[in-house]
Amino acid sequence: MPFRELGLIPELVRAVADEGYTLPTPIQTESIPLALGGRDVIGSAQTGTGKTAAFVLPILQRLAQSPNHKLRALVLVPTRELCEQVLERARAYGKHLSLRSVAIYGGVGMEPQTTALARGVDLVVATPGRLLDHMERGHLNYSNLEILVLDEADRMLDMGFAPDVRRILDALPDQRQTMLFSATISNDVEALAHRAMQGHASVEIGRRASPADGIEHGIYALDKPAKRIALAQILKVHPHGRKLIFTRTKFGADKLVSYLRREGIRAAAMHGDKAQSTRMRTLDEFRDGTTNILVATDIAARGIDVDDIQMVINYDVPKDPEVYVHRVGRTARAGADGLALTLMSPDEWLLMADIEKLIGRTFPRDVVPGLEPSLAPLEPKAPEAPRPERSIRARSGMRRGRR
Ligand code: AMP
Repeated sequence: MPFRELGLIPELVRAVADEGYTLPTPIQTESIPLALGGRDVIGSAQTGTGKTAAFVLPILQRLAQSPNHKLRALVLVPTRELCEQVLERARAYGKHLSLRSVAIYGGVGMEPQTTALARGVDLVVATPGRLLDHMERGHLNYSNLEILVLDEADRMLDMGFAPDVRRILDALPDQRQTMLFSATISNDVEALAHRAMQGHASVEIGRRASPADGIEHGIYALDKPAKRIALAQILKVHPHGRKLIFTRTKFGADKLVSYLRREGIRAAAMHGDKAQSTRMRTLDEFRDGTTNILVATDIAARGIDVDDIQMVINYDVPKDPEVYVHRVGRTARAGADGLALTLMSPDEWLLMADIEKLIGRTFPRDVVPGLEPSLAPLEPKAPEAPRPERSIRARSGMRRGRR
């Protein structure tokens, strides 16, 4: 679903297009319409999922209705870095609107912040401690406040900000919209949400996810240096059909594509550092079958609007279990069958366990479903590294997966 169908005003649709975003991420698709409708939202999402735009865009839309430079939206974040980041995003997405915003965080002088507040702002992005300092000096007037966001609520609590956040909550008008985002929704976060939302109807998004039934999952356990060798073999014995390979980083994607090309495998990388024209060409070639292997980062993969993908390969195990679900959801669309293969090194064992916990199933190990047992044993050619006790070794043969 394109951004314009989420109910955003043209100024914001234009701003996200300027950023080069083609499609909203899942958390954006879910939370933007709800937030625009005034609902309280609890979102489970980590950095990298596009959560900032998920709350910033609805805030800007509401502020744009009457940009009067009175404080109407407050975003609380745990760190100075995040504070700057959220402000930078708010300014980028709000570039076609006439709104004022300021970042309030500690470790720098109070004065410029005091001046900005006195001049009048529509949006404040703040860390709790410094915000309280300003509150105690009477620099903040919350009588017009309409929206509060608690971003990275779990980190805020871990960093001991609970008492500060409670004091801030007590100072805000009860009639407001509240959104809370957190990578994990622990009991403490739930308690904070309960207090912040005062029993308002809230919707939880992004918490539970389950992949489609038609997907067959397989985990291949092997040491890190063997991953690329195994991948090349899988691609060679499975030459047909579109494949989407996920890496955690842009650099990792480029490195992998270079390796595959050296191995004689035609593949292309898709990520945010590629020029728009290159990305479009790569996508066209993926669509028309010139290249049937694409190596992408999670964010870049959102823009790949190609349904007919037979195999998703996780070259890195994602850190967020829900990302696994989103990744493998690229295959087996519309009732088709698909294969989701994960290359897992010993240090990724616990991440995989989290994924299996979320999905509520364990996946077969050392089985590459759908591959013939006689085809190329996956014996690592890389030098043997010393292995920890618990290390999981690659098998030398393959069995046919359970169908
Ligand atoms: P966040 O999870 O908010 O930290 O966002 C992670 C990165 O994704 C940021 O660099 C954003 O600019 C980028 N981003 C956010 N939404 C999208 C989107 N719909 N399409 C592509 N990139 C996005």
